[in-house]
This record gives sequence, structure tokens and C-alpha cells, in this order.
Amino acid sequence: MKKETITIALTGNPNSGKTTIFNNLTGTRQHVGNWPGVTVEKKMGTVIHNGHRLQVVDLPGTYSLTAYSIEEIVARRFLVDSKPDVVVDIVDASNLERNLYLATQLIEMGVRLILALNMADVAQARGHEIDADSLGTLLGVPVVFTIGTKNQGMNELLDKVLEVVEDRDTVSRHIHISYGHELEKEIKKIQDVIWKDPSVGERFSTRWLGVKLLENDAAVQDRVRSFGEIGKETLAQAEASRERLAEFYKDDAEMVLTDQRYGFIGGALKEVLKVSAKSKLDLSRQVDLFLTNRILGFPVFIFFIWAMFQLTFTVGAYPMEWIDAAVTWFGAVVTALLPAGLLQDLLVNGIIAGVGSVIIFLPNILILFFCIAVFEDTGYLARAAFIMDRVM
Ligand code: GDP
Ligand code: MG
Repeated sequence: MKKETITIALTGNPNSGKTTIFNNLTGTRQHVGNWPGVTVEKKMGTVIHNGHRLQVVDLPGTYSLTAYSIEEIVARRFLVDSKPDVVVDIVDASNLERNLYLATQLIEMGVRLILALNMADVAQARGHEIDADSLGTLLGVPVVFTIGTKNQGMNELLDKVLEVVEDRDTVSRHIHISYGHELEKEIKKIQDVIWKDPSVGERFSTRWLGVKLLENDAAVQDRVRSFGEIGKETLAQAEASRERLAEFYKDDAEMVLTDQRYGFIGGALKEVLKVSAKSKLDLSRQVDLFLTNRILGFPVFIFFIWAMFQLTFTVGAYPMEWIDAAVTWFGAVVTALLPAGLLQDLLVNGIIAGVGSVIIFLPNILILFFCIAVFEDTGYLARAAFIMDRVM
């Protein structure tokens, strides 16, 4: 049976291009920017593709799916409870190692996943050659290239979504990232306890629950507690397993799990990623090196800030004069029209002069915010923060 509406959840690291792709797909006009927290609210939109109605949800950007930040909790709760039909993990293709960490967690949750290797243009400019087919086979996840800013790859992505939903794609398969003998043994023990109550085992990925319990994940612990008798037994087993592992590895289980995931990613990247010498010639990297240079970075920063204030106050002075003249003129007109007295005083010296003294700064504010927006969207502000961080 075909479902009426297919739900697609967009996940990904912050700044991987989720909102850009969301806007491309749904056509909804929304703000796209780098301010942290912009996507904490849930955004939804619909798109019709090949006669199917797809509902797209832009989840908060996260690096991982632990329960440390509100973004992670929001994203995870949606994935676990709303069970979207397909999860599209938007990956910054020029930063695969860091970005694939989230993918490993999504794979572990057992969601139906598609990887969108976004920023394919940046990856190419840096000389990164990615063998998408091999990556897909290794992860058991279909992979498509996209360039959000050029609206490229969107149809391919939606085609892939339909293929996965209709079980037509040949790449999807459920892989287990192996955590090594000791960890696997403990995960299995926890799973066995959960499976004593098949109604629980069927509702959740028991492997995921097991891993999260080993990570001492408070949100999952709460959930497991709600399973009743089996829940209690599971938590006791998890506690025992954690202790055993801490003794064996002389480290917390979550550290060991993180290491193993990065080990898995590193191994996969060795096979699918080639970085050519061309990357040294990349222009944007050169600019980066200059802007974030230890010594040159400061004068450049001071220059930009100086230029911004110059623009704000010298260019802003002209419209300020016009507004001032207009307000004075308007005050004079009202003075001439009304007889001297309380009302005239209220209008001329109170309201007109009062509002006038505020809107006179409007040009300055507009220019200042325009400059900040330019710094922000070109990515300069992030670099400025990086160099100033040392001083601060
Ligand atoms: P989000 O934080 O994941 O929602 O990311 P955004 O959609 O806000 O994108 C972050 C920045 O990357 C924006 O400045 C986008 O214009 C830019 N961007 C998105 N996709 C691409 C892409 O494929 N190539 C390039 N060069 N830039 C992109
Ligand atoms: Mg966003």
C-alpha cells in the first residue's frame, strides 16, 4: 500500500546546507544564514515529485545524536517518535570525516537513510575526489551529489527518496558498525534483556538502545525506564556492562564507542576519498590563509571594521541630513497650522521631534546591518571570530 504523504527529514551538521536544500525543494522563502540557532525551530514544507506528495522537515543542525544539546534532543526525538519515511543526511562533502560521524549514528538508529554529498563544488575545488558508489556500498546507504547553492542534484535526490521508499534501490542495506569483541558482547547482553519483551524489541532498534545505554544517555535511560519491569532489568544490565567495559578499557564506554566510529569512518575514507595536489591551489583556501594569518589577520580585521564604520557614518550622514530637514520642515508646517498651545506643543515638540530623533539613526543602522550581513554571508565573520578568539 502506498502512503499518501511521504515524510523526509533533513539532518546534517550545522552549515552543511540543510536550509539551502530545504528552500530549493520546498520553494518556501526563508532565512539562510550562519547564525547559530537559526534552525532550532522545526520547519516544514511540501514538494510534489512524480505525483507523490513529499513533506520535508528541516531538523536542527547537529554533529552527533547524543543528548547533550537541545538541537540534538529535538532532532533525535523527531527521528525516533515521528519515524520519517526517509532521512536525508546533508553532508559537507569537503569535510567528510567530521560530517560522517552523524551518518554513523543515523545508520545505528536503523532509519532509512540517504546521503546527500552537498558542497560538491567546494570538494571538487579542493581536489577531493569521492567515489560515491563505493561509499554507498560501504555504508549501505544510497549517495547523491548536490550543490545547494546552484540548485543542482535536487531531482536526483527526490528520485532517490522515492526509490528508497518504494524499496527499488539496490544499495540500501542494514550494516552494523562493529565496535569490537568486548563492546559487541555487552551490547548483545543488553539486547537480549530487551528482547525478553518482544513488544519493546519490535518497536525500537534494540542495538541502538543498547549502544545509547552504554553511552549513559539520560534521555534513553528515561525511555527505557518507562518499559516497566523489563526496563529496570535492562538498566541494571547496562550499568553492569558499563562497569565491565570501564574496567577493561580503562576508559568510559562512550569514549571507546566514539573512537570506534571514527576508526570506521577513517577506514572507509581511505577507500573512497582521494585528495589531489590541486587542493594547494584552491583560491578560497589561499584567501583563508591570508585572512586568518597570525599577524596579517589583525590589520585586515581592523581595516574591515574601520571601513564598516566609515561607511556607516560618512555615507549615512547624507540621508541623516535629509531626514533632519524633513522633520524640521514638517514641524514648521504643523506649527504654522495649529494655534500655539498644549496640542501644538505636544505634536511639534513631543511627537514629531521625538520620532524624528529616532528615525534619524535609521540610515546608520541600515548600513551597519548591511555590512554585518555581508561579513556574515561571505563567511568573514567566522574567520574574524577565529582570529579574535586568541586575544579574547
Ligand atoms: P544549514 O546550517 O545546514 O541550514 O546550512 P545553510 O543552508 O544555512 O548553508 C550554509 C552556507 O553554505 C550558506 O552560506 C549557503 O549559501 C552555503 N551553501 C549551501 N550549499 C552549498 C553548496 O552546495 N556549495 C557551496 N559552495 N555553498 C553552499
Ligand atoms: Mg539551517
